[in-house]
Amino acid sequence: MDRRMMVAGNWKMYTTSAEGAVLVQDMARELEAVHGDVEVVVCPPFTGLKAVSTVIEYDRVPIALGAQDVFWEREGAFTGEIAPGMLTHLGCTYVIVGHSERREHFNETDEIVNRKVKAAFASGMTPIMCVGEPLAIRESGETERFVRDQVLAGAAGLETDDAARLVVAYEPIWAIGTGRTPTPESANDVARSIRATIGAMYGPPAAMQMRVLYGGSVKPENAAHFFREPDVDGALVGGASLKAGSFVEIVKAATR
Ligand code: PEP
Repeated sequence: MDRRMMVAGNWKMYTTSAEGAVLVQDMARELEAVHGDVEVVVCPPFTGLKAVSTVIEYDRVPIALGAQDVFWEREGAFTGEIAPGMLTHLGCTYVIVGHSERREHFNETDEIVNRKVKAAFASGMTPIMCVGEPLAIRESGETERFVRDQVLAGAAGLETDDAARLVVAYEPIWAIGTGRTPTPESANDVARSIRATIGAMYGPPAAMQMRVLYGGSVKPENAAHFFREPDVDGALVGGASLKAGSFVEIVKAATR
């Protein structure tokens, strides 16, 4: 099964809407020199979605738009929250769910992540569901069990077709923004175990189709090493997605 490679940029809480528009224009220019079938996604802060989506639409930029979070209700008295339909209205086709920064700073549980995953699918978006272990779990040798439990809970109760479209980003917490990474082989072991978990839940065809990204200090210098691994279908990139040059170098590494 040939899964389409994906490189997604998580801009976190960086860029004003004007800066985001310039960044995506710069990326578009640099992407013109890239040949190969990679799905490129950018996830600006909520406030930048409109400006970035306008650039993508008017300049026909081959980049998909994603948000960094979503609430699960369709509408209502939920001050400060953003509904799935508000994101699709702006052109979002992806949404990051359960990033470790949200789990850590905003107390997102697996149950909350699961509600958001379901809400994303219900509105026609594809969730990029983040999982990953803290350092203590890695050091105790419990990584695969820990991540399996996150996948079992976060991806529970889906339609099989949706499970096949799911994107899971494996992001060891100790690797995010630190410059440290697992070896590509070890990232692949966890990616394979994530795929096996989806296979046990939804059957082998869904497992073969769903994509697993690696995330955590991916840079132009190390991206190709991860992309060579058979169960790694691309990357979720934080810091290196804030510069058009480094982001597009990572996209180039994913062309195969
Ligand atoms: C992330 O925030 O999802 C991430 C992987 O960050 P960084 O690439 O900066 O480690």
